[in-house]
Amino acid sequence: MPAASVLDLIGRTPLVEVTRLDTGLCRLFLKLESQNPSGSIKDRPARAMIEAAEADGRLKEGGTVVEATAGNTGVGLALVASRKGYRTVLVVPDKMSREKILHARALGAEVILTRSDVGKGHPDYYQDLALAFTEKTPGAFYANQFENPANPASHQATTAPEIFEDMGWDVDAIVVGVGSGGTLTGIGRYMAKASPKTEMVLADPAGSILAPLVETGIMGEAGSWAVEGIGEDFVPPNCDLSLVKKAYSISDAESFAASRDLLRKEGILAGSSSGTLLAAALRYCRGESEPKRVVTLVCDSGAKYLSKVFNDAYMAQEGWLGRERTGTVRDVVINRFDEGSEIFVAPNETVASAFARMRAADVSQLPVIENDRAVGLVEESDLLDALVRAGPDIGQVFKTPVGEVMAGKLETISADAPVSELLPLFERGLVPLVMDGSKFLGLVTRIDLINHFRIGAR
Ligand code: PMP
Repeated sequence: MPAASVLDLIGRTPLVEVTRLDTGLCRLFLKLESQNPSGSIKDRPARAMIEAAEADGRLKEGGTVVEATAGNTGVGLALVASRKGYRTVLVVPDKMSREKILHARALGAEVILTRSDVGKGHPDYYQDLALAFTEKTPGAFYANQFENPANPASHQATTAPEIFEDMGWDVDAIVVGVGSGGTLTGIGRYMAKASPKTEMVLADPAGSILAPLVETGIMGEAGSWAVEGIGEDFVPPNCDLSLVKKAYSISDAESFAASRDLLRKEGILAGSSSGTLLAAALRYCRGESEPKRVVTLVCDSGAKYLSKVFNDAYMAQEGWLGRERTGTVRDVVINRFDEGSEIFVAPNETVASAFARMRAADVSQLPVIENDRAVGLVEESDLLDALVRAGPDIGQVFKTPVGEVMAGKLETISADAPVSELLPLFERGLVPLVMDGSKFLGLVTRIDLINHFRIGAR
């Protein structure tokens, strides 16, 4: 039967077994919350929080839904609110992926970006900003996923029984992350009654205070992490940590590697927090000496992170591809020609193609490659010079082969040279081609060197 509205497609997500990853003696199942209409687990609480506020009069016709969100709650709220005719205003920390912000804006939400590097109590902290905005806006309803009881209640009423039923009423452990705590508290409360043997396991980004708090009882200082949507610098009122039996801290690199592995091996496109959950679930499974039935969640779709987790250039830039650091120029090269980087141009391609590729990759120069050999370099300034020289024939320049405008005299440096040898070249304004023996490895620019120092300082 067709659904009456997209909101009726929230929930009843599928469960799938992982069969091509090493789960030790255990069986591991993933609940694909990525299949919800806006692509994440947060559609469930978004709908529940809005409908609870409608029911008790906190949200009325013409009202505004306000939220502090890492993105997914905002996208879920924007979906439900726009379908029901409310305005949505979201306060989002600026580390969040562009895809989520563009998605929320495309749904009609107004997005206020704020700093990611300040904590609770700072006026720019996303939750404090959202509250301040609500207080000055008539008809505004602050969804407040961190305290709103409708958030955990939605998981208790839907997510948990779906898991229990699909698992044939036999689950030994459920691995979850905590953003607001809604998933943990909702599923944990349901299982405590329906299936007391089921252990709740916390997957937490390294740097978050939650896993250390569970494991040692000590509330430490929060660090920073790049995984989105989970990990905390405080314990949200909606997060009942007493439900947690065991907790794992997972690094960004391990989380991202797990998301990438899940796509390669199982064909499941999952986001970064799902990588954290999967990595923790695999550690749990491999550590068990009895066969257990374990469930974890794909919290959101990897489509929200194609420009990050699934983008090799971004991953290399952040130092997450597991490349060895050798102290040589090799370490500084981001887009490696031998690894199939497509950011280059052939001499017989047009200036228009070179320009389009520079814009798409957000670079200011391209190596010119012919038969796997670097034969030139084309920089923004070469294109601009050609345009200025062309006078009234400016349109012709875009049709000119790159070979006619490129710089043919090349500055090269060995991949095995120490990093410090780049500095005199940059002082002379040069962009050297890095050579691995006689083979072209890639270009390095000032920004790559700055980035190299940033990663080294982490
Ligand atoms: N993963 C992602 C990607 C999320 O956006 C969120 C919600 N912030 C979670 C997991 C955690 O869910 P909860 O808020 O229920 O703790």
